[in-house]
Amino acid sequence: MEFKSQIELFKQLKESAGSHSPSMSTLMKSFENFSIKIDACFLSNPYATELFFSKFSEDVIRTNDIVKFLEYYPSQNDVIAKELSKALNIESDKILIGNGAIEIIQSLVNDEGVKKVMSILPTFSSYYEFVRVDTEVVYYYLNPEENFRLDVDDLIESVKINKPDTLILINPNNPDGSYIEQSEIERILINCMELKQVIVDESFIHFAYENESLDLVSSIGFLDRYPNLVIVKSMSKDFGIAGVRAGYGLMNAKRVLEFLSKGFLWNSNGLAEYFFNIYSTEEFRNQYELVRKKYIVETKKFIGTLSEIAEIKVFPSKGNFVLIQLPVSIDVDYFVGFFLFKYGIYMRTCSDKRSLENGGFIRLAARSIEENEYVLNCLNDFFNNHEILD
Ligand SMILES: *Cc1c(COP(=O)(O)O)cnc(C)c1O
Repeated sequence: MEFKSQIELFKQLKESAGSHSPSMSTLMKSFENFSIKIDACFLSNPYATELFFSKFSEDVIRTNDIVKFLEYYPSQNDVIAKELSKALNIESDKILIGNGAIEIIQSLVNDEGVKKVMSILPTFSSYYEFVRVDTEVVYYYLNPEENFRLDVDDLIESVKINKPDTLILINPNNPDGSYIEQSEIERILINCMELKQVIVDESFIHFAYENESLDLVSSIGFLDRYPNLVIVKSMSKDFGIAGVRAGYGLMNAKRVLEFLSKGFLWNSNGLAEYFFNIYSTEEFRNQYELVRKKYIVETKKFIGTLSEIAEIKVFPSKGNFVLIQLPVSIDVDYFVGFFLFKYGIYMRTCSDKRSLENGGFIRLAARSIEENEYVLNCLNDFFNNHEILD
């Protein structure tokens, strides 16, 4: 297939995937000899993936325990919650295990009592896509001119005016990487105590930091003081284990019970249970802590070097990815297709993201140090080679 028609077909596949990216298997079926050198679309820490899979292979594959995990029922939700509570240092009756964080999100926003949701754009689309048909969604817009920084006072004002029952914060935010300091989160919570729920999605919190030693930050400590706080957490990005479907929600114990009584029971699986079990050991978490910090250090450096490329605007990020704005002369979907077929780099166009449709935005994940280097070289090659732009 010719280069141009490859890009055309890619654009069509993207269109039919709606607000998500076409999957690897779709791409492989659609293009002959298709291979991706670097997946800069999926947002995961490759060092943590390595750590997990070496342990997994040792414990589960070599011993053939995989059969046990798949033959039998996993433990019920509350049993897995008890294990996980050791890692999170909170009471197990505040933990609801989900089939990935997506299931928790769906349960929270699709709840009967949810009538009006306030969502901050740009965002992770499931938060507004999964609401009930009669639920109103009001959008609060972050401004690219202000680097997508949230003005907390203005948000609080907007909550007072719009009176939503549900407020959604993603911290750091996907897709722009903007971060809300924990003291600011508390200011929001203090001013939103009348709401049914304030959801803080911490799926990328392991890549954020507030001090030089890069210690883990979290809003978990606010759960006791603010009973309407719900924390959503996916393990898919921390560890690059999206297929395992490990996610959870943290909320007041009464709400957990309500969900359990509605039928949350075996909505986990043997592999997720295995993951939560090893994650609950201090030894594994200590090993993870090393690769978490290593990856943050390299990611900071990568984002710093990207910011030196004059042709693009790179937004500040405390996620493991950056949002990039291309010059107006470049069609963003063409650019993404070009990088895929010319360099084997898979980037995420944001042309399907509400509020980012027309700005020429792409999201780029940080990978290993060698992969980051390759991406930087290709970007420089692209911008230095003006024929490509014609
Ligand atoms: C990826 C993602 C999720 C979903 O995670 P799963 O655990 O894989 O379902 C939830 N929230 C945000 C912000 C995400 O980026």
